[in-house]
Amino acid sequence: MDVNFHLGTPPGTLTCPSSLPKALKHDLSPAGPLDDDSLIHTTPPLAPTPSLQFATTIMSGSFLTTLDQVSGKAFDYIIIGGGTAGLVLAARLSEDPAKSVLVLEAGGAHLGDPMIDLPASYGKFFKNEEGKGLGGSSATNFYLWNRPGEEDVNAWERLGNPGWNWKNFLKYSIKCEKLIPASEEASTAERLTYDEKLHGADGPVVLGWPNMRPGWDVVLQDTLEALGIPRIFEPQGGDRVGSSMDLSTVDPRTNKRVTSVAYLEQAGTRPNLKVLVNAPVARILSVPGEGFTTSGVEFLFGGEKHTVSTAVNGEVVLSAGAIKSPQVLELSGIGDTKILNALGIETKVDLPSVGTNAQDHLFAGVAYELKDPEKYNTIDPLLDPAVAEEHLKLYAEGKGLFTLGIVGISMAPLKSISDNAGEIESTVPTGGDAPGLAEQRAEQVARFKEGAANAEFVTIPGFYSFPNPPSPGAKHVSVCTTLNRPFSRGTIHAASRDPLAPPEIDPHYFEEDIDRLTYIEQVKFVRKLAQTEPFASLLGREVNPGPDVRSDADISLWLKKYLTTVHHTSSTCSMLPRDKGGVVDPELRVYGTKGLRVVDLSVVPLIPSAHTQSIVYAVAEQAADIIKGNGLYITAKCTG
Ligand SMILES: Cc1cc2nc3c(=O)[nH]c(=O)nc-3n(C[C@H](O)[C@H](O)[C@H](O)COP(=O)(O)OP(=O)(O)OC[C@H]3O[C@@H](n4cnc5c(N)ncnc54)[C@H](O)[C@@H]3O)c2cc1C
Repeated sequence: MDVNFHLGTPPGTLTCPSSLPKALKHDLSPAGPLDDDSLIHTTPPLAPTPSLQFATTIMSGSFLTTLDQVSGKAFDYIIIGGGTAGLVLAARLSEDPAKSVLVLEAGGAHLGDPMIDLPASYGKFFKNEEGKGLGGSSATNFYLWNRPGEEDVNAWERLGNPGWNWKNFLKYSIKCEKLIPASEEASTAERLTYDEKLHGADGPVVLGWPNMRPGWDVVLQDTLEALGIPRIFEPQGGDRVGSSMDLSTVDPRTNKRVTSVAYLEQAGTRPNLKVLVNAPVARILSVPGEGFTTSGVEFLFGGEKHTVSTAVNGEVVLSAGAIKSPQVLELSGIGDTKILNALGIETKVDLPSVGTNAQDHLFAGVAYELKDPEKYNTIDPLLDPAVAEEHLKLYAEGKGLFTLGIVGISMAPLKSISDNAGEIESTVPTGGDAPGLAEQRAEQVARFKEGAANAEFVTIPGFYSFPNPPSPGAKHVSVCTTLNRPFSRGTIHAASRDPLAPPEIDPHYFEEDIDRLTYIEQVKFVRKLAQTEPFASLLGREVNPGPDVRSDADISLWLKKYLTTVHHTSSTCSMLPRDKGGVVDPELRVYGTKGLRVVDLSVVPLIPSAHTQSIVYAVAEQAADIIKGNGLYITAKCTG
């Protein structure tokens, strides 16, 4: 199929205010040189922040370490990747002072970096790429926080993973978070509702509602209700069908982004935990001879190769994210023999499912001008560098557009938004050649039948849409729609033996036609929403897709050209039975190996109806308990 997806920045979207990106030259790592993507800023640096103070503590303390403390040494746990999952594991596994823990992170430290702290930048400062640096993608994401639907998670257990169910998910999700409620006035007026029992109060990940909100979400909710989409009091309790005011990983007390580095912050200084940055791992090493028993890893530092060993009974935990984890496995000789042979890599474990089953959420932004721009808050004005400068000053006082966030999110089953639902659902692919695909599809069909939330609608306060540019001075709402459970499956494989070369990503978007047909209905529903009162009265012209895109065929073409990824790539090292497409078992051990696990978004076998950071935090919390031996219930169930 001729699909030409956009992965770039929509015309006229926010770019860096001129003063931001070049000041404060501070890769805070005492250990290594600045890497290519180190963030460099100009005047004025933001006032010292709690994170910056923490960075100073770290530098004088012992988290960030130097090469001589790592190269040739041995650790009980070597974690590859200091991203979202990696730092959860680092903090939890080092709670036992008898265990030494090392994190090797490919990118820089970026601690206390204003480019990361500053909300309302929506990844623009990072070209919308997967995060490289401490915190990983939690440091570059759009900071939306929502938990998946209950049955999405229970499906993981039904697919052969005892213990990976909603009950445990909720327990670990609550453990990781600390919810800061909004003021009583805002909560009542803007329906920022939640159920206290379902949220944590002591976890490292601080959540809240952004201090500045767009101003249309209540009107939008009323409009959705008129169209049969109910309001949800608490969207994080496992039922996502309806419209809600969702949370963000921005601390409302400081207006700063919260990343997985918060786990290190909460852990405090620990002599048994070391983090080496600018140290990309090239491959995982094994004991010579039969099988694959982990002996350590080979990593690069300052252009040189180094090794670090696992202690007796030690483990390597691969947390390089769904794009890089399959690549690291393949470079280590674990994967499909055909692919490894083509790269000249000796096969140590023939595991054909490595890098398969890739799933992703996509965004299609339908953008409208706002009729009465003065009434609403959007990031459009920040396109003007002078205005952006002004708002940076306001931000230092805890005010202005850099404290603005996305709030309104709604989800619905196809049957609630389209008269064609029955016809489209009858085209559901049920079989599939790949091992285990039929079982995954059966789960997806069950969600259809239950009326689970298959479509998502996120209202971005600004212009996030292709291809027509915004008119100067206009303000926008972009209603972005996402398909929660795509049927198509992609692949991600190493493309060369060079560990620094990117892997080859073939997402196979729309390979299954049902994905395209569903998407067309979602775009049509956005247009219906925009024509329904009271929301309709807020809107001026539709900028994208625009008046020329009318028929289903037009919409289909527009989608094929202009869909963008939401960067939720998952499932490339799926936790499934080995003969059903599995790469890891329910204790996250890589099949055919000893002392090697994968813990990140790549292990989730089916992508759920949620933005993915909350999933990674909960999965990593549960994984930490399993690795520490607190998850024995799983083995008991597996063998029993
Ligand atoms: C632009 C963007 C916007 C997003 N928006 C949202 C959102 O609003 N809400 C939401 O819930 N989710 C969002 N997500 C998704 C979410 O942030 C990710 O799914 C999640 O953070 C992934 O966690 P992870 O641990 O699997 O991988 P990551 O957090 O990406 O961590 C992987 C880490 O491994 C490191 N690494 C990679 N290769 C190597 C190697 N060879 N050696 C050593 N280290 C290595 C990387 O540098 C990185 O630090 C977004 C993601 C992006 C990129």
